[in-house]
Amino acid sequence: MTKGGMTIHGFRGELLSVSRDPHHHPDAIRYEPDGLLVVEDGIVVARGDYMTLAGRFPGLAIEHLPGLIVPGFIDAHVHYAQMDHIASHGEQLLDWLDRHIFPAEKAFADRAHADRTASLFLDELLRNGTTSALVFPTVHAHSVDALFDAALDRNMRILSGKILMDMGPEGLADTVDSGRSESDALIRRWRGRGRLGYAVTPRFALTSSDAQLQVAGALLADHPDVLLHTHLAENLRECAAVADRFPAAQDYLDVYDRFGLVGDRSVFAHGVHLSDRACARLAQSGAGIAVCPSSNLFLGSGFFDFGQADAHGVRIGLGTDVGAGTSFSLLHTAGLAYQAALSRHDPLDPFRALYLATAGGAALLHMDDRVGGLEPGQEADFVLLDCAATPLLARRTEHATLADRLFALQILGDDRVIARTYILGQCAWDRQGTAS
Ligand SMILES: [Zn+2]
Repeated sequence: MTKGGMTIHGFRGELLSVSRDPHHHPDAIRYEPDGLLVVEDGIVVARGDYMTLAGRFPGLAIEHLPGLIVPGFIDAHVHYAQMDHIASHGEQLLDWLDRHIFPAEKAFADRAHADRTASLFLDELLRNGTTSALVFPTVHAHSVDALFDAALDRNMRILSGKILMDMGPEGLADTVDSGRSESDALIRRWRGRGRLGYAVTPRFALTSSDAQLQVAGALLADHPDVLLHTHLAENLRECAAVADRFPAAQDYLDVYDRFGLVGDRSVFAHGVHLSDRACARLAQSGAGIAVCPSSNLFLGSGFFDFGQADAHGVRIGLGTDVGAGTSFSLLHTAGLAYQAALSRHDPLDPFRALYLATAGGAALLHMDDRVGGLEPGQEADFVLLDCAATPLLARRTEHATLADRLFALQILGDDRVIARTYILGQCAWDRQGTAS
């Protein structure tokens, strides 16, 4: 398929999407066993049962995709600069940052290193079926430029923003003024380009001064189109240090609230250790949590409490949190979310897990009008899953129901089951190595 000019194309296959949280909307599951997806210039213009719909499009070029087609996955929290330090041994959060991560991020002072890593990172997302992500770069403004340039090349819907961390270690600290002026400049430079969006990104409460947290709030107030992206209540030692530094705050979330950082465009990673008050405040403000189960397990942080979040109506999505996360696969992450939830006797439904990895993440990132559901009017970012990617998966799914197949993909699946990834209706990753 060529770029440019009007193109209309049909994809025939088994279609599955979950546009709303089936926990509240059980009828949100949309499934066509023999479906047709019609894509014009990257946008879904029709979707339905093949036999019913095909007649409306005489002469349509139709590609048959054998496998299960689902919306592209959305990673609601991931660090591109940490990719090369995934699987670093031995510490919990604060020591892991000091020993492994801060040295790795210092290397991004070199723009060429940032460019190379950004490119490899986005290719890795595509290989795992991830088409959109909310991404931590580093403190360096050009780490955002590198990521956005690479995302623009691939036409991917990516959100990011330079890290604010004026209390970070030497060589990795900005200042109140430079943090503000560089963020402002990045927002102006990238606004409206491609499918990109900006997120004001203080690393977490402990790495910014009060004055810088105030600046983050001012940036949000100045730019109502941007998101807020940070970490919240991941690790007990971290929570204790935050309570020490901010004795007047009611809890960790309240620290951010006092600086104007809690609103419906705020995305907080983790939220493993939250008070009921904080959950109620999250729900009331419309802010949400990127749940990162593989990271929480890897760093010994704990298990996210889905029951508590649901009781308060907190919005959630899924994040891999690589490099603390152990896989770029949202399928694998969904499987671990199931195990985290089950540790509290709360079995996560596989359709709900798919929702969290697609439309749920899109809603959290304020892009659910564009992606996440494969609905007419949305952008045609989707993934072709191979339920027989391994001999074991093939046996487990051969005569299984749709729910059992989906669950098996989440428990046994990873990048191996991603047969193809499509961006705006164009094949951007093909396991066979022939992406157009
Ligand atoms: Zn993180």
